[in-house]
This record gives sequence, structure tokens and C-alpha cells, in this order.
Amino acid sequence: MDNIKKFDAVIIGGGAAGLMCAIAAKKKNKSISVAIIEKNDRVGKKLLSTGNGRCNLTNKNISSLKYTGSFKNQSKYIFSKYDTNRLLEIFKNLGLLTFSDDSGRYYPVCKQASAVLDVLRFASERLGAEIFCKENIRSIRKNENGFVIKTDEHEFISKKLVIANGSKAAPKLGGSGSAADYLKNFGHKFTPFSPALCPVKVKSDILKSLKGMRVTGNASLIDKNGNKIKSESGEIQFTDTALSGICIFNLSLYTKKDFMISLDLLPDISKNELLLIINSNKSLFSNLEIENLFTGIFHKRIGQAILKMSGIKDFSRRCSSLSEKEINEISHTVKNMEFTVIENCGFDHAQCALGGVCGTEINEKTMESKLVKGLYICGEAIDICGECGGYNLHFAFSSGHLAGENL
Ligand SMILES: Cc1cc2nc3c(=O)[nH]c(=O)nc-3n(C[C@H](O)[C@H](O)[C@H](O)COP(=O)(O)OP(=O)(O)OC[C@H]3O[C@@H](n4cnc5c(N)ncnc54)[C@H](O)[C@@H]3O)c2cc1C
Repeated sequence: MDNIKKFDAVIIGGGAAGLMCAIAAKKKNKSISVAIIEKNDRVGKKLLSTGNGRCNLTNKNISSLKYTGSFKNQSKYIFSKYDTNRLLEIFKNLGLLTFSDDSGRYYPVCKQASAVLDVLRFASERLGAEIFCKENIRSIRKNENGFVIKTDEHEFISKKLVIANGSKAAPKLGGSGSAADYLKNFGHKFTPFSPALCPVKVKSDILKSLKGMRVTGNASLIDKNGNKIKSESGEIQFTDTALSGICIFNLSLYTKKDFMISLDLLPDISKNELLLIINSNKSLFSNLEIENLFTGIFHKRIGQAILKMSGIKDFSRRCSSLSEKEINEISHTVKNMEFTVIENCGFDHAQCALGGVCGTEINEKTMESKLVKGLYICGEAIDICGECGGYNLHFAFSSGHLAGENL
């Protein structure tokens, strides 16, 4: 029958991990027959949106310390086998030239994510991997010969099966939670996906007035016992309900309800220096209304928010009227502008997801399931998530390549 397709290996998901898996499998063994099953009308849709359309594909500082999740420890093996240079070499052999910016992030020299997708697509076609798009999977089961994957159009029979269909992050670009269903059916433990690398919704009366504002500073995540979990520096953006920006995205890997995000708006200035500066501004602008206190330092709206958060309600007061106690309180707010976490914004806003298949159930030397022979798992379907900066694509490409070499 025409709709029955037989392969040595079927890969579910034509994203970063799936495409790299197909390429590695065909490079290692030309005679292996490989199919990619993709639900979108084309492969690699998410890749095109990465790095603001420029695709930050890896980083100079690859290390398991940049990741969280139950596969974190095992990822050490993968990163020792696939360090930055190895991944760049793999891409160079596919025709992609790259450069790194001052923070160690690698991009294609043409600064276009489409270049990364194109070299992957052309290689998989050139090497003879078959790509089936717009496939809606109805069932996957295992029998004594391998796996049977039924879609609306076809029945795929395959000796090996690779789950490379990512996480629920960014559903408009292909994100789905189906990896969970497939793997749970095979007896794997699965931590539910939750959005990460995204803005964080916070409780605050002043947030609406800060909508659209940006500051450069330090952001620290503090747990309910007052312990600092993580600090990041960079640009912080305010929306009407959330804090955003890369440093907030990185904190979102560790947020929990009622944790605190504390911003230091002038990290290079000590509290004592700040007291001197505010006292000096008090005299410089003594006859002006209090909202002018931060002239020359912050945008007026940021200054107003600092004053409100420091308990100053009457904005018709003059700067000269500020007491020593109030100046102390104001300096404290500048160094510790606190917001209570509600939750991470949803999957639509997330670059990645926490959760996925339990890491300890995967053999990191091959990416094969420890529970089901012939079943391989790679990419974001696994319970591991890295910081912003190319870490997630590095993991997807490396784990995909490793799975492919072991098919
Ligand atoms: C806006 C945005 C920007 C990002 N920027 C960066 C960046 O610059 N650097 C970085 O390192 N990371 C970045 N990421 C994260 C990175 O894109 C992912 O970590 C990475 O793509 C994961 O690779 P993957 O192959 O596991 O999953 P994906 O790339 O998501 O691929 C999974 C594929 O499986 C398909 N699929 C899903 N379900 C099914 C199904 N049931 N049947 C068939 N096919 C299915 C999907 O359509 C998709 O094509 C970004 C993410 C987003 C959303």
C-alpha cells in the first residue's frame, strides 16, 4: 500500500534537534533510511525566529552550569563531546560561517537565522533524509520489529524512533506538548512543561506607570527566606504587568510564586555614594518639585516610581523638604526596587520550557531511552533548559547529533 512507509529510523519533529539528528545519522551511515515527520507545513519554523531572526546558535561558555533540569548532570558528557568548537566545526562542514559577539554568542556571519535552517535543510536533502510535513500523528506503538507511527496520511514502520518534537514553548512556531503523551505511553516519567526564558508577571502598584520604560541594572531573584537565588545584570524592561529583558528571562528559570525580584538601578554606585548624590541633588534642585530629584539620573517616570515606592505621596513638595530618613529610604529603593513574583508569562511569550522527560531515564552516551530499546530522545523534549545566549540551541543540536550518530 502506498501510504505505508518503511524506514530504519523515523524522527518526530523537524526542528533544530530533529534536522541535526537526521544529518548525523546519514553522515555516519549512508545506507540507513531516515524520515522526519513534521506537523508544520515546513521544517525549522522556530529556528527562523531565534536570536531575533539572527539565530544565536551557540556560545563560547558552554557548560552544564548554564542549565537547569534533571538532565543537567548528564549533559556534562554531551558538552565534553560537543563543545563550542565541535559544534561550530559541524556547522562549518555544512557550509555555515559564524562570528561571536562581545558576550561570546555565536551567530551566522550573515546574521540571518534562515542561513542556519538552509544549511540544515540542504544537508538533510542532499544526504537523502526524507521529510514529511503537515503530518498529524494519531498513534505511536511498539511491536517486536520496532515502531508503528500512524498519521492522518501515512503509516510509518520503523526500526528506531527519535522523539525530537520539542516543548510547549512558542506554540505558534510549532511548540507542542505531544512529546509528553508519546513518552508517557512508553512508561517514561515526565515533568509537565512550564514556560521559561520569558517575562515574569509581578505584583506592583507602580508597574502601569512604568510601562515601556527600560533601565540598565542588576536583577536578583530572592526566595521566601530572603536568600539570593541568582543575580543577572543588563537591560530591564517594564510592561504593564511584568518585568522583561534578557536578565529577567534568565531569572525566570528559577522563579516561584511569592519570590521577590529586586532591582539595583545603579549597581556601580554604592549606597553611601548614592546618599551623597541624592543630598547634592536635594540642594541643586531645592526649589523644584520633588519629582525632579532624579534629574540627570533617571527618566522622570522612573524617578516618580522610586519616590512612590519610598512612601512619598505628596509630589507638590519641594526637593528641599526631604528629610534624612526619606533620603535614606529613597536610596534604599534605588538599590532594592522590589517586585513580588506572581508567575512566569505564558508559553506564547516563552523561548523555552522547564520540564520534559526525566533525564535519568536517558542514556547520555547515546540519547537512547533506558526503558525502551530503539527509542531515542533529544532536544527540548528532555527536562533541561539553559540560559539565554545560544545554550538551548547548542543542546538541541548536540543531543540531536549524538542521537543520530547512535541510530
Ligand atoms: C522566539 C524564540 C527565540 C529563541 N532564540 C534562541 C536563541 O537565539 N538561541 C538559543 O539557543 N535558543 C533560542 N530559542 C530556543 C530554541 O529555539 C529551542 O530551544 C530549540 O529550537 C529546541 O529545539 P528542538 O529541536 O528540541 O525543538 P523545536 O526547534 O521546537 O523543534 C520541534 C519540532 O517538532 C515539531 N513538532 C511538535 N510536535 C509535533 C508532532 N506531534 N508531530 C510532528 N512534529 C511535531 C515542531 O513543529 C517543531 O518543528 C528561542 C526560542 C524562541 C521561541
